[in-house]
Amino acid sequence: MSHYITRWCPIHDEWSDDVNNPEEFCPDCVKEGRYKTREMLERENEALRKGLDAVVALINESHGVSGLHLNGDIAPWGELRTGGSFDEWLSDFDAAIKEQSHG
Ligand SMILES: [Zn+2]
Repeated sequence: MSHYITRWCPIHDEWSDDVNNPEEFCPDCVKEGRYKTREMLERENEALRKGLDAVVALINESHGVSGLHLNGDIAPWGELRTGGSFDEWLSDFDAAIKEQSHG
């Protein structure tokens, strides 16, 4: 038995009924990009995780970044990651990896 959910959308100024997704936002709002459904967020999350994994793999297979300091030196990954001299480059990346490992 499915529960029939009716809710008021203040943006569209109307009632909407959505039997299949009682926990979701107004379907018209989702269509217009105001909100993302759980399914959309899960898809986005998976793509972001794959993107992080790809960069981790690249870092594990290389020494650093060439051309970053504009002096011919290679900037080792250790300098660019959290705790390094130039960690403002990749501290957000490390924070994302840390967050990912908790998920
Ligand atoms: Zn709406």
